[in-house]
Amino acid sequence: MDDFLSKACSSCRSCDLFKSRRKIAFSRGNPSANFMLIGEAPGSKEDELGIPFVGRSGKLLDQLLESVGFNTESDVYICNLIKCRPPNNRRPSKSELAACRSWLDRQIKLVNPNVIALAGSTSVAAVLETSESITKIRGEWRLWKGRWVMPLFHPAYLLRNPSVKEESPKSLTRSDLIEVRNKINTYDCSIGISAFNTERRDSQ
Ligand code: URA
Repeated sequence: MDDFLSKACSSCRSCDLFKSRRKIAFSRGNPSANFMLIGEAPGSKEDELGIPFVGRSGKLLDQLLESVGFNTESDVYICNLIKCRPPNNRRPSKSELAACRSWLDRQIKLVNPNVIALAGSTSVAAVLETSESITKIRGEWRLWKGRWVMPLFHPAYLLRNPSVKEESPKSLTRSDLIEVRNKINTYDCSIGISAFNTERRDSQ
């Protein structure tokens, strides 16, 4: 089903980014995983290979995920807010985010993860619809539409801040990923879902 969606997305022309893309970068990892990570947009390497997070940021992301015990092929489904590279790696515009949103919504529905990590401020703002700064809310669980969501620093930011000292962005991100791993391994996931169901039942 993920392949089917990805194939359909490769002929998408909902915004102008299709004009400059080489390939869409739709997803990698396991569509049946309980954990989904959403970044911002493909960069040059992703545009060349058609796979999210395969450049320098992706390598660091994989290292961090593996360092806390995730298998990046089987334990996580990785994608981005938008599937085509914005020229010169600029931030996606509001209209590009809106045009691409239905693909992301279909991915979330298909994977149906209990836990989502949002990498970087653009991803946090777009999904949680908040203007709170990433520095303030990273590491804080949010319950969003029945799923546990963890805001994280973006790996590109960690590449610019390579210190591994205590309280450095990299070391904080590693702790945040340990939180994510623990959440997946506990009953908390189902508490999140059932809390959401109860809310929905109450409002019906
Ligand atoms: N940055 C992102 O947010 N996503 C990618 O796929 C690569 C870099």
